[in-house]
Amino acid sequence: MTNLKSNSQTGTHFSVTYLGRLDDLKQYTFATDDGAVSIEGKIFLNPILDLTGAEISINRLGANDSMPFYHKHKDNEEIYIFIGGRGEIQIDGETIEVSEGTVVRIAPDAVRSWRNCSDQPLFYIVVQVPANQYQGDTITDGILVDGEVKW
Ligand code: ZN
Repeated sequence: MTNLKSNSQTGTHFSVTYLGRLDDLKQYTFATDDGAVSIEGKIFLNPILDLTGAEISINRLGANDSMPFYHKHKDNEEIYIFIGGRGEIQIDGETIEVSEGTVVRIAPDAVRSWRNCSDQPLFYIVVQVPANQYQGDTITDGILVDGEVKW
């Protein structure tokens, strides 16, 4: 596996990494320390970018592949942002079709799994944040800074 820390940059107030093309996500495999879970095409950004309020994974699920287990969370809600391909996500036994442009928010307690229902890879981003923690909105949190934008 590529060492993404070495393929990353950090500034005083930022960090950036270069994952490569979406189809090359298959080079990454997430595995738990005990080996119980191993998922090809999944990369978590928190350990690479030192995120402080969220976990985000970028994912590629191969053609007609499916997650081999159900899971839920203790505290975190998840937002699945599908950016390519076609599949289905199952939430508490209800099946929802997903494709490019589908965004699904799932409460921590919900039991979920998903699959790719096509001959093309399924691409999606999963954002994981503590439920009921978000305060304000992007307009009240954003602060305009004086000065003309220069490049
Ligand atoms: Zn999850």
